[in-house]
Amino acid sequence: MSSDIISIKDIDLANKKVFIRCDFNVPQDDFLNITDDRRIRSVIPTIRYCLDNGCSVILASHLGRPKEFNSKYSLEPAAKRLARLMSKEVIMAKDVVGEDAKRKALNLKAGEILMLENLRFEKGETKNDENLAKELASMAEIYINDAFGVCHRAHASVEAITKFFKIKCAGFLLQKEISFANNLIKHPTRPFVAVVGGSKVSGKLQALTNLLPKVDKLIIGGGMAFTFLKALGYDIGNSLLEEELLEEANKILVKGKNLGVKIYLPVDVVAAASCSSDAVVKFVPSQEIPSGWMGLDIGPASVRLFREAISDAQTIWWNGPMGVFEIDKFSKGSIKMSHYIAESYATTVVGGGDTADVVARAGDADEITFISTGGGASLELIEGKELPGVKPLRMKVNE
Ligand code: AMP
Repeated sequence: MSSDIISIKDIDLANKKVFIRCDFNVPQDDFLNITDDRRIRSVIPTIRYCLDNGCSVILASHLGRPKEFNSKYSLEPAAKRLARLMSKEVIMAKDVVGEDAKRKALNLKAGEILMLENLRFEKGETKNDENLAKELASMAEIYINDAFGVCHRAHASVEAITKFFKIKCAGFLLQKEISFANNLIKHPTRPFVAVVGGSKVSGKLQALTNLLPKVDKLIIGGGMAFTFLKALGYDIGNSLLEEELLEEANKILVKGKNLGVKIYLPVDVVAAASCSSDAVVKFVPSQEIPSGWMGLDIGPASVRLFREAISDAQTIWWNGPMGVFEIDKFSKGSIKMSHYIAESYATTVVGGGDTADVVARAGDADEITFISTGGGASLELIEGKELPGVKPLRMKVNE
């Protein structure tokens, strides 16, 4: 059991009209084809469970960041994909809380699915507007949140809406996300290794600070490693640097040492004079980055070192690529780390959209224990924060 979150299994939803906040914010190409439907697939168990219990289901999500109605951001492609995946009709509303949506919601029969239009077509969504929340809530009897990716945002369909439902709960996906993060933070099987990367220390500073007392080893790669290397006195050329965080980076290294945490930094890097696919690259020890060049990936020696370091891990949390993985030349470190993490015997949890992309591109997705569907939300959980979308779904002890 995950925690004190009210689960969909705790409530009687037989024959009810349920409102499910989903995360169908999927990537699309120029022709609006969905290029990755993982987020849509992830909500299907919750939808099926509701249908099996005789419910009628209203789905709501945002897509992109439109400020008003814009057909480019319509959820119609998501509705079509869901219909195909479930081999079942999905009725599409023309608006969010307008006449069409309200009428279709009212006439919805048991076993039917209705998808509302993009929530962001309504200005009140990002403002956590209570009027919009009330209108949305008026369509159903039960609220289910299965949109982990947006739970760190206090938006109308995530937070305000919960005030207008007596019965509310977390869907299967949300529960799973919370439960994995909880286990990591509260009782990881040891040794527990955190592998962090990505561009900036600033984006992960709080997560690092919160994780440090909990992990056995910390592996730092990606652009953020250079602020740490610089703090140790290395000459990092033009590599990514957050000068204002040098002191903070030093503190983390010292604190880690005092706590007995083994910290690993890249011992070599793939360096280039510019961050482009036609740049000439050199593999150099971290001490020998030529002046004017920048480190854009971890080098082969670092990959072997990191592989050694994770070899005895029982739990691995990975967030952030080891290099500029978008460019083939600088993707090897991330791809290799993905292979090694995937083939380890540890419980492996991957967070962050970029890292999930690396794992997918490496073909390792099936070998990872759990890939989080939310980047920002998963980081905030690891930072130890309570998410605004999750708080209202907790059981109150005296109720
Ligand atoms: P984040 O959103 O902080 O997890 O960062 C992900 C981004 O970090 C990716 O777009 C990578 O291209 C970038 N990145 C990783 N390593 C480096 C590096 N050594 N130099 C510059 N950018 C990097």
